[in-house]
Amino acid sequence: MGSSAAFEMDAWLRDGGVVVTASDRASRALESAFHRAQRAEGLTAWPAPRIQDWNSFVLTAWEEETRGAADSRLLLNPIQEQALWAGIAGSHNHLATLLEGPRHRLASLAMDAHELLCEHAPQLLRSAARTAWQQDAAAFSNWLASFDETCRDGNLLSPARLPLELTTLLQVAAARRMPLLLAGFDRILPVQRAVFDAWGKWRHAETGSSASEVHFYGAPDSRTELSACALWCGQRLSANPDARLLVVTQDASSRRGEIERAFLQLKTGAARAPLFEFSLGVPLSQVALPRAAHLLLRWLSSPIAEHELDWLLSTGYLGSAQETSALQAAMLYLRRRGREQPQWMLKSFLSELQPNDGKRGPCPEVKSWASRMAETQRRLEDLGGYARRTQSPLEWAELGPRLLESAQFAGSSTLASDEFQALQRWHWAVEICGSLGFDGRRLAWAEFLSAMARTLESTLFAPQSSDAPIQIAGPSESAGLTANAVWFLGADEDAWPAAGSTNPLLPLEVQRQAEMPHAAPQLDWNLAHAITKRLLASAPEVHFSYARQNQAVEARPSRLISRLAGLPQPLPKELEAPATPSPLTETVEDSSRVAFVPAASKVAGGASVLTFQSQCPFKAFAAARLGARGWEPAEAGLTPAQRGRLLHAVLHSIWGGPPRGIRSLDDLRQIGEKKSFIDKHIQQVLQEEIRSAIRERMPRRYLELEEQRLGWLVTEWLEYELARVEFEVAETEAERSVHLEGLTFDLRLDRIDRLNDGTLLVIDYKTGDVSPWSWELPRPDDVQLPLYAGFALDREKEPLGGLVFAKVRPGDQSFAGRVFDPAATLFAGLKAGSTLAKYALTAEQLIDWRSAIEQLARDFLAGHAEVDPSEYPQTCERCGLQTLCRIQENRILLEVDETEAGDE
Ligand code: SF4
Repeated sequence: MGSSAAFEMDAWLRDGGVVVTASDRASRALESAFHRAQRAEGLTAWPAPRIQDWNSFVLTAWEEETRGAADSRLLLNPIQEQALWAGIAGSHNHLATLLEGPRHRLASLAMDAHELLCEHAPQLLRSAARTAWQQDAAAFSNWLASFDETCRDGNLLSPARLPLELTTLLQVAAARRMPLLLAGFDRILPVQRAVFDAWGKWRHAETGSSASEVHFYGAPDSRTELSACALWCGQRLSANPDARLLVVTQDASSRRGEIERAFLQLKTGAARAPLFEFSLGVPLSQVALPRAAHLLLRWLSSPIAEHELDWLLSTGYLGSAQETSALQAAMLYLRRRGREQPQWMLKSFLSELQPNDGKRGPCPEVKSWASRMAETQRRLEDLGGYARRTQSPLEWAELGPRLLESAQFAGSSTLASDEFQALQRWHWAVEICGSLGFDGRRLAWAEFLSAMARTLESTLFAPQSSDAPIQIAGPSESAGLTANAVWFLGADEDAWPAAGSTNPLLPLEVQRQAEMPHAAPQLDWNLAHAITKRLLASAPEVHFSYARQNQAVEARPSRLISRLAGLPQPLPKELEAPATPSPLTETVEDSSRVAFVPAASKVAGGASVLTFQSQCPFKAFAAARLGARGWEPAEAGLTPAQRGRLLHAVLHSIWGGPPRGIRSLDDLRQIGEKKSFIDKHIQQVLQEEIRSAIRERMPRRYLELEEQRLGWLVTEWLEYELARVEFEVAETEAERSVHLEGLTFDLRLDRIDRLNDGTLLVIDYKTGDVSPWSWELPRPDDVQLPLYAGFALDREKEPLGGLVFAKVRPGDQSFAGRVFDPAATLFAGLKAGSTLAKYALTAEQLIDWRSAIEQLARDFLAGHAEVDPSEYPQTCERCGLQTLCRIQENRILLEVDETEAGDE
């Protein structure tokens, strides 16, 4: 706002004048500016300014005009009105309204259509004026007639009708009223003009003169554009800490995270007050406390997804700090025992926490939490058939907070200011849902929870403004915000003027004639033009920018901005951010190593520890010494790991020897009915390996298909083995302990075959795509088989013949590995060009592997724990510990170092 405009506004308010703003945000911004100006003059007390946003103005004026008129109608709140529309839409047997979700989405569209008619074409509110409407518009017309009837019969009033009623009241009761000054209105809707005209005198606030300094920049991409804007804000604030900056961006809600990251790079100085804030809030459903409260109430009666449960446990709202960490540990324990579930009922979670194997009971913290939750659930169940029971929403609204109280939700931590405000807003949302009984309706608990979910989704929450120097807003929300300088992001041809969709329930022709939003490109252009002009007049310095590449598509500058600000120029040098953003972490050179002193000489994780040490020393450290694991989501069916275990078990059962299995190629040849032989083993394994709880969870047909799949796979594999040279199976699932550099590793070998020359072949079953190249030195990606071959066998007594992966994959059954003499001991007709023949095992290889493995064990013991993946990014993609080692931030540092070294 220019200084003369600010002066006019200040003088108007000091004189007790009334200001009406287009939005609630604009009125808050004007109020803050007014109070700042009074404080700047050294005043300590002054009368409150008379600023009202449009909606409050209409409501107050309507209440004034109807005072004493005994108007007993109930003014509907949004959730009540939506419930009415949903009921009407559902009763008309429209196919799209059969399900609850689509019915409420349609109800919300109908509400919008009704509001548009009230604002732009009130003459069409009469049924007679809509008789020519067709198809969806005709259906909406019928709903509108029913809505009017329901409101009349129920003595109800939609807020969309308030301005129309107010206009009539004002016209009837002609009186002298305070003149109005309007602020932040980019356009005046017909209904607003009618109200103001009926009120009396009104005018727009002065907009101030156009900015003296206007720039339009073209950035290579949106990331550079955002970084330039953040840099500019930082520079402006360094030059003038009292400056107020406004950043206008098209899609503030979808880009919120990205914008936050860019602006968090700005240093906050000693005061540590927030430097920026968004003027638009986020839906309550995305705010941790209300979301957790709703999720917990839902969990009392229905299952929640595993990731939701993990999130709920991580919030810390479920209990004390000790209970929270005990619950997280319990969850980890369940997962490690393969008891994860894609969906958790509260009851089954509580019973899993109290295992009946007699080995391990829950800790006191888990016990007390579990009994509290069981008690809370009992309170709900005590209502008797609560799943079918319907009662007044008011009663459910009273019960919800009581249940949370009984669960001691968020009860043991001191809430921060933001959390406290969110809690207040949550209580408000519950009360609003309680008001759904306005027409005597009764709801089931599940319906009440759905209504609550919709309310949380549609209610925006923004913590109380901290009056941060940088305000971030969308173009429309920026109306009324004042600043010393403005930066407008995303001014490209597709985004500005902003296009939008019309309402599908109103005829297009009607929308065009009534000039409803987005009904014609010219309307979008006019609105965008008005907003741009307003922004140009709201600060002496205004910058526009756009990204030449947007989501891999070339973008052109907005014609509207080019007309007003000239053609875009490249970003000035001082606004070019470094190619790689500065890391959020601080680097500390730490060459210290904490040697591993095992409590017992055995290392948890077996051979995988040495594999990890080779892949990335930090991975070995984190897995073996910190007990860290990647997080695998539970699956509705069997996980790849479970399927792999089943296959191992079937092959172990088959090759395990008499009485059930066989022991040699000769035995294999003797089997008459191969199919029934294999099926018998598979059925037995499925019975033994799949717990009854898992079996009950899965459809029978799914398990039958899994059985069939295993049958095909194993048959194919045995066919492959039939082509081998004579062999016999020496051992399956052979357990060995390996002592290495003072460490003991417990190993389990899938299978050891005695070949025709008396040597041993170490076999590892694999269902994935594996290759012996993973054993290549200097940093093998897998040392499991070389470790077995080199240390687990007594090679003096029984010499090694080779080590192979047995790839048991549909359509790809083969041995892959290194064998001393594969043509003589494995396959008689092996081609000389085959990989097995070309890359035969050598004694030197065994020696090299031995010394490499010993070195890995020494490194592990010495505490080598560098974040140093053998092959970035492939090694990290399979790791799952990225959040712990923070490789992304380290890579940024590495890239900076490499770039600097390259420059030198
Ligand atoms: S993600 Fe990469 S760098 Fe991090 S521990 Fe795993 S392998 Fe190492």
